[in-house]
Amino acid sequence: MEVPEPLREEIPRVERPLALLVCRDTGGRRWGPRWLERAGLEGIVAPPGREALRAIELRDPGVVIFDSASRAGGRGRDKIYQACTARDVPILAICATEKQIQHALESGVADVMRRPIDWRIASHRARRLARSHLSMRELVEARSALDRAISLAAQASLDRERQINIDRLTRLPNGRAFRRLVDRTLAAPSGPRGTVGLFLVDLDRFGAINANYGREAGDAVLARIGSRLSECVTGGDLFALGRRRARTAAVARLENDRFGLMVGGALATEELAEIARKVLERISARVEVDGVAVYPSASLGVARWPGEGRSAEELLRHSETALLDAKRRGGGLFSFYRRSLDELAGQKLELDTQLRRSFERGELFLRYQPLLEVKSGRVVGAEALLRWDHPERGEIAPLDFIPVAEETGLMVSIGGWVLETACRQLRSWIDAGHPPMRMAVNLSLCQLRRGDLPQTVAKVLRDAGIEAGLLELELSERGVLRQDADSIGQLRALKALGVRLSLDDFGTGDSVIAHLRRLPIDSLKIDRSFVVGASENEQDAAIAAAITAMAHRLDIAVIAEGVESDEELGRLRDWGCDEYQGFICSPPAAPEAFASLLNGTSPGSPRQLEGETRPTPDETGREL
Ligand code: C2E
Ligand code: CA
Ligand code: CA
Repeated sequence: MEVPEPLREEIPRVERPLALLVCRDTGGRRWGPRWLERAGLEGIVAPPGREALRAIELRDPGVVIFDSASRAGGRGRDKIYQACTARDVPILAICATEKQIQHALESGVADVMRRPIDWRIASHRARRLARSHLSMRELVEARSALDRAISLAAQASLDRERQINIDRLTRLPNGRAFRRLVDRTLAAPSGPRGTVGLFLVDLDRFGAINANYGREAGDAVLARIGSRLSECVTGGDLFALGRRRARTAAVARLENDRFGLMVGGALATEELAEIARKVLERISARVEVDGVAVYPSASLGVARWPGEGRSAEELLRHSETALLDAKRRGGGLFSFYRRSLDELAGQKLELDTQLRRSFERGELFLRYQPLLEVKSGRVVGAEALLRWDHPERGEIAPLDFIPVAEETGLMVSIGGWVLETACRQLRSWIDAGHPPMRMAVNLSLCQLRRGDLPQTVAKVLRDAGIEAGLLELELSERGVLRQDADSIGQLRALKALGVRLSLDDFGTGDSVIAHLRRLPIDSLKIDRSFVVGASENEQDAAIAAAITAMAHRLDIAVIAEGVESDEELGRLRDWGCDEYQGFICSPPAAPEAFASLLNGTSPGSPRQLEGETRPTPDETGREL
């Protein structure tokens, strides 16, 4: 069969494999290389024997064409065959006799041709062999390069794994590893057996250590705490009481100055508490930083499995709630998670969200309770009281939502709105022909702390066209007495505007009459509890009378709150109280009801409405 001559152009020279022709016969040696070259091979020729062996060794041919006509029989031929086999070099044997063919096949040569041969075919076959040899070698090399790469990658991923699970500073497992460990412990097929206590440890005032001694010192303290905690786990005396019961324990640095500790086993709550105490004790031991003694302190929150979380995530969240509770209580102590902690936080958040929404939608409103003069029974003013009509829960008492709004700061905006609304209401009563009277508005401490209250008040008065002397701002005794010089300054600034100031809830806090002198107040409101108490014991009555006398000497008016009965009213009169408010006249009322009250009572007797209008408790604050 005719084999087409290979096209030289098609084969790039650089890729030309080397073919070694082992041949004694001069014709073959003359023509061989030419034919090989035409087949795209680099041809070299060597006579059988040492020269051929050297060529195999040094030139590393891709194929050896062994011409048996060279009569290199026996050991010489076998040596060449062996040299080729050792290097995986394919042999194309050219044989003259049946015996030679037999021998070649038995020797495992790659291909055999019988003489007389067509050199074109021979070189073509040689090229095939050389190319496949080359491909095979490339494959082997690629394979081993791949193996090397795989093993490098495996090593790198092992390092990375170690890196992402270990905290560099303390060499403890990090948060990620800790979470996985806790989850694995909880998911163990046999279950963790007993209890798992998840302790969250957070250093107190760690920022101060950093600020006072520098970051490096801070790091040194953290490393020290880390090793103290891991000593706790790896023996030591931590589990002295529960060692026989604590089966698993692990410690980790979760972030910054926060560590996690997991202890599992048949541990009662009392034993977990004992461990918490020991951990805090261990941590608070002295640490030397650059020759300076530092005494770290930490707070600790504990959540327990089962019952307080089904995963690391949940347990950590709950132990954080407990930790915050420990911090709130002053730090340096531990706290167990209680559902009530979460419920409280959740309820507050929910309430704040709803309150914000209601406030934006204008669902808050004011009620006004009349303020009467004891002597004449005349209405001399009104106290604005905030109301929230919750879309689902109905009316919510101010004391149930104001403290939350104070915590979140929302009360600053709401308080501003109350001030504006009350002043506008007063304006509209005056415009309707009622004689001017006082408007009392309650203030929250957060409004005072803002610092811009005097400006806000001045603007509100200006906008509503209300004389400053008609506005009375009420501040709870408990808040004011604890106030610093700054707040007292604010009160003075308000006073300078001409606004009246009143001390609310007098008698509920640590009433210190001596303090009254320091406060720029115009009146004090005696709390209802005092009014009630005085009816039950003579002592309270005597104190109330003394307070009134003392206040009058300081030029402070006295107002009694929550007066419900004639008997109570009579008593106030005896004490010398100036004004009063209470259900005896009216509960806090809607503006229209208040206006009709003004029509009916001013300037006449307040008792006119008594009886018919006194509300039942749940009507309080609603319709008159
Ligand atoms: P407060 O300033 O001491 O207000 C007097 C409270 O006594 C009002 O409760 C009023 O409804 C109630 N009261 C009036 N007369 C009687 C009575 O004869 N008997 C009884 N048992 N109670 C009477 P309210 O409206 O529930 O307000 C509670 C507290 O919420 C207020 O106490 C005040 O501290 C606060 N508050 C109300 N509105 C505001 C406001 O706009 N801003 C601020 N910061 N606090 C407010
Ligand atoms: Ca008040
Ligand atoms: Ca009060």
